[in-house]
Amino acid sequence: MAERPPLIRKTAASLKPAPNLAERDATCATFSWQQVREELQPGGGEALNMARLAVDRHAGGPRPQHTALRFIAADGVARDLSYAGLKQQTDRFAVALAGLRVGRGDRLFVLAGRIEPLYVAVLGALKNGCVVTPLFSAFGPEPIATRMAIGQARVLVTTAALYQRKVEAIRGRLPQLEHVIVVGGAAAAGGAPAGTHDYATLMAQAADRPTPAVETTASDMALLHFTSGTTGTPKGAIHVHEAVLTHYATGRHALDLHAEDVFWCTADPGWVTGTSYGIVAPLLHGVTSIVDEAEFDAERWYRILHEQQVSIWYTAPTAIRMLMKAGPELARRYRFPKLRFIASVGEPLNPEAVWWGQEVLGLPIHDNWWQTETGGIMIANTAAHDIKPGSMGRPLPGVEASIVRRSEAGAIEVVTQPDTEGELALKRGWPSMFRGYLGQEERYRKCFAGDLYLSGDLARRDADGYYWFVGRADDVIKSAGHLIGPFEVESALMEHPAVAEAGVIGKPDATVGEVVKAFVALKAGFEPTEALRMELLGHARKRLGAAVAPKEIAFQAALPHTRSGKVMRRLLKARELGLPEGDTSTLEGRE
Ligand code: ATP
Ligand code: MG
Repeated sequence: MAERPPLIRKTAASLKPAPNLAERDATCATFSWQQVREELQPGGGEALNMARLAVDRHAGGPRPQHTALRFIAADGVARDLSYAGLKQQTDRFAVALAGLRVGRGDRLFVLAGRIEPLYVAVLGALKNGCVVTPLFSAFGPEPIATRMAIGQARVLVTTAALYQRKVEAIRGRLPQLEHVIVVGGAAAAGGAPAGTHDYATLMAQAADRPTPAVETTASDMALLHFTSGTTGTPKGAIHVHEAVLTHYATGRHALDLHAEDVFWCTADPGWVTGTSYGIVAPLLHGVTSIVDEAEFDAERWYRILHEQQVSIWYTAPTAIRMLMKAGPELARRYRFPKLRFIASVGEPLNPEAVWWGQEVLGLPIHDNWWQTETGGIMIANTAAHDIKPGSMGRPLPGVEASIVRRSEAGAIEVVTQPDTEGELALKRGWPSMFRGYLGQEERYRKCFAGDLYLSGDLARRDADGYYWFVGRADDVIKSAGHLIGPFEVESALMEHPAVAEAGVIGKPDATVGEVVKAFVALKAGFEPTEALRMELLGHARKRLGAAVAPKEIAFQAALPHTRSGKVMRRLLKARELGLPEGDTSTLEGRE
């Protein structure tokens, strides 16, 4: 519960190699997306293809044999795929699709674990002009059917086991689904299931055929990504090929990728982070990207960081909290001499977690903010700059952020006064901005006011230009005339050594509108006693004051999370109030 300084300072001497974004203000002042495009594709032209830029540029460059993807199997054995190898495989997959008369604009879904064919299929399909949706492989049949129906999937790439367990029974409900390509089909008992193509056979047949000359343009649809479903039914966000410019620029500025880096993004490609930064951005920079085929395990993750000599690590608050819960001794059994930059996204990163990085791993954790809708990182703590723990950092070059409020007349007004809470807005025009919610035009339109995109998140900007997350507009608690952001309350509780995780909601109350209620999961070794509950209430009151501190604390063995790792406050609230749970398709542990 030690008091900590408000700033983690960076010194130029400790930063090696020299950070990509050193002179932030100067870079922001001269930055243009056109320049980024010119750099990625000198000479330009109309055509633009995300996958060709990610893969073929390096396959045809000076280091074609450099490892693009390193897959770590569940048993720990690593297998490398070079840029040249990835080009060959993805070209073949594009040929195979063309052979099925699948082409530009056709929707292709991938349902698989983090195995090589997933990466080949996503990139190969993009080369062939298809619109790609990777789905999280732990989804059960219902969420798979709903998403494929919304997305009008014409092709599905999956594994034999997943097909039999999850897809066969729903196939009759998906009349648009013409082709199912099954990995491991021919090898399965009885051969590829009826009505499917075997992946390996298709790839072998494609080997001698010329690659199709499919041309995509910057504004062609490339990816369809479903949101996490934290606040309601997941939405399908449409992204176009020019999003690649954001992936490239943010890989450089926010993640500080350099050609020699070994990069590990722990997100699954079923979520936008696992595609933008688990597939596209690292390849664009020609680095080696680690793909762990297994699920989270604290010891395994430390071993991977250590053995693979990961230099840049992009993960999520939920994973960091789980590592914190596992205790510092485990981390100290490993060494991370190459690790030089850690970043996190997806949820508010409590100051306690930033400091844990500094104290246990020797590096602070750099929080950054973005959404499925923004397609790439928008606001970030960056390598060269001081961190204010608890802050999301500052807007990246090419991103114009502001805090806005709605006037009494209903107009959107930009707030200029620092430290004022309001909705976080972005000026439209960045290349990875979503271009629609599939099938929900009205909802899309409502996200914009003039040239501003309204994010639905509440935040404030301080006098130095750092942004601080307050909460989602839907989660903010109104108590006795105060607006309370759950993040602040959760962070204060997290400071207590017994607390592993906290989720805070507003509970309707006849007198004050809402009272603050916290749900707390404890670290191993702590018992949920009445004495501890009183201690936590006291600690929160001391840190936050009586108006903001929770009035009630309930212990839970674990909090409900989305599969992408976010605390589902709406579920805590529904359960507390005995209301319907709503869409739980993304709830972790559910099939
Ligand atoms: P849905 O829109 O379906 O409710 P979701 O908003 O959780 O789900 P995502 O697009 O995966 O779906 O998540 C984006 C949201 O995650 C942001 O709007 C924000 O609320 C939260 N978020 C992301 N990064 C951060 C961060 N660094 N700090 C605080 N919150 C963050
Ligand atoms: Mg959202």
